[in-house]
Amino acid sequence: MVRMMEYQNADVVIVGTGASGLFAALHLPEYMNIIMITKTTVEESDSFLAQGGICVLKDEEDYESFMDDTMKAGHYENRKESVDIMIRSSRGVIEELIGYGVRFAMKNGHLDYTREGCHSKPRILFHEDITGKEITSHLLAAVKKLPNVTLMEHTTMVDIIEEENRCKGILTVRENQLCAIYAKNTILASGGIGGLYEHSTNYAHLTGDALAISLRHGVQLENIDYIQIHPTTLFSTKKGRRFLISESVRGEGAKLYGADGKRFANEVLPRDILTKKIHEQMEKDQKPYVWLDMTGLGKDVIFHHFPHIYETCLNEGYDVTKEWIPVVPAQHYFMGGIHVDSVSKTSMEHLYAVGETSCNGVHGANRLASNSLLESLVFGKRAAADIIQEETRQNQNSKNSLDIEKDNFKNLAEQAALYYNKNKNDLIQEYKMSVLDEIERERKAR
Ligand SMILES: Cc1cc2nc3c(=O)[nH]c(=O)nc-3n(C[C@H](O)[C@H](O)[C@H](O)COP(=O)(O)OP(=O)(O)OC[C@H]3O[C@@H](n4cnc5c(N)ncnc54)[C@H](O)[C@@H]3O)c2cc1C
Repeated sequence: MVRMMEYQNADVVIVGTGASGLFAALHLPEYMNIIMITKTTVEESDSFLAQGGICVLKDEEDYESFMDDTMKAGHYENRKESVDIMIRSSRGVIEELIGYGVRFAMKNGHLDYTREGCHSKPRILFHEDITGKEITSHLLAAVKKLPNVTLMEHTTMVDIIEEENRCKGILTVRENQLCAIYAKNTILASGGIGGLYEHSTNYAHLTGDALAISLRHGVQLENIDYIQIHPTTLFSTKKGRRFLISESVRGEGAKLYGADGKRFANEVLPRDILTKKIHEQMEKDQKPYVWLDMTGLGKDVIFHHFPHIYETCLNEGYDVTKEWIPVVPAQHYFMGGIHVDSVSKTSMEHLYAVGETSCNGVHGANRLASNSLLESLVFGKRAAADIIQEETRQNQNSKNSLDIEKDNFKNLAEQAALYYNKNKNDLIQEYKMSVLDEIERERKAR
C-alpha cells in the first residue's frame, strides 16, 4: 500500500547520481537548493563500471582526427556541432577532474594515453581498468561536501509533473511513500536501458524509466533504436550483468579466435561491425562464444593496466595470463535517447536530459569507445550553465510568479499520484514495454 504524499521543494531536481548528474550538480551555484535522487545506492551507476577510459583532445593537431574517428564510428549520423563542443571542451573537463583529485595513468611525468577500437591515435586517459570508479567516486565525494545538495537513495522517479509542456518537478516513490518534488528545473540523468535486456553490461535497475515517462508526456525522443552491443563480455551461463572485457584490451593487442583456433576479424574494428563478425563466427562454430587471447599482452601489462579484469576472470576460473577466455557480445550502450539541443534542453520547458538517457547527437549511429564519459560530463556541465543563464534572465523579467505556480503544483501532483496509484501494479512493466515497443517501431520505420 502506497502511503499519502509528501511535498518537497528544490531549485533543481536531478534524477540520477552517475557522472552526468554529479557533474551538473557541481556546476550549479551554492545558492540553489538541489535534490538528487537515485533508484538504488549512489555507488550503483554505470559510471562506476566504466573500465577503458575517457577521451581527450591530446593536442590541437589531434582535432581533425578525433572528429573523423567519432564521425566515422557514428556512421556520419552524428551532429557535428555537438561533437565539436565535446572535443573542444575536453581538456578543460579533464583539468577539472584532476582538480577534484582524479588520478590518470602517467608516463615519464606526463599523462599516458591508450587506444581503443576505431581510434586512429592513442587519446584515452585511464586509471588502471577502473577509470569510471576513479572519476565518479571523486565527483561523488565533491558533491557530498556541498551544503546545498541533498542526496536521496532508494528513491525512484515514477512520473514527471507537468502542465502545458512545462516541467514542474517529479513524482517519486521511496519505501512505499509517494513524494512530489517541486523544482524550477528538472534534469534527467537516468542512464541507459540495459535493464530491459537479458544480456547486458549495465546495472539491471537501468530500465529507461525517463524514456518511458517522456513518451507518456510527449517529450521528443531521438534515434532510440540505436543500441550498441559490446563485442566482448565474459561468457557466463549465470543470470545477471555481463562482465565487460574492455576494448582497450584489444587496443593493446589481444586477439580473437574461432573454435578452429584461427583469427577471424581485425580486433579493433568498430563495435557494431566486430559484433556482427563475432555473431557470424559463433553461428559457424555453433558455439555461444568465441575466444579472446590476452596472453600476448604479457603479465606486466595485464597486472598494471588490467588488474580488475585479471581478478574478475580469475574468480570465474580463468587465468588470462595463461589461457584464452570465452567472450560473447552483449547490450552495452544506448546512443539514442531524449532529444536535447546543444545545452541539453529537451522539447519540454524546464526539463533537461544529460548523459546516456539523452541524445545530443554526439554518437550518431554508433559510439566511439570512451566518448560517453566525456560526453556525459561536457553536456551535464552545459545543462547547469543554461539553468543559471535562464534563471538570471527570468529574475530580471518576472516577479512573484513562483507562489502561483506552487499552488497549482499541488493539483498537478495529486493527479499524477492518482494515475500512479491506479496503475502501480503494472506500471513498471508498462514502462519497460513502452520503451521496447518504441524501439521496435523506430527500427521498422527506418
Ligand atoms: C561495463 C561498462 C563499461 C564502460 N566503459 C566505459 C569507458 O571505458 N568509457 C566511457 O566513456 N564509457 C564507458 N561506459 C559507458 C559509461 O559508463 C556510461 O555511458 C556513463 O557513465 C553514463 O553516465 P550517466 O550519468 O548517464 O548514467 P549512469 O552512470 O548509469 O547513472 C544513472 C543514474 O540514474 C539513476 N536512475 C535511473 N532511473 C531512475 C529512476 N527512475 N529514478 C531515480 N533514479 C534513476 C540510477 O540509479 C543512476 O544513479 C561503460 C559502461 C559500462 C556498463
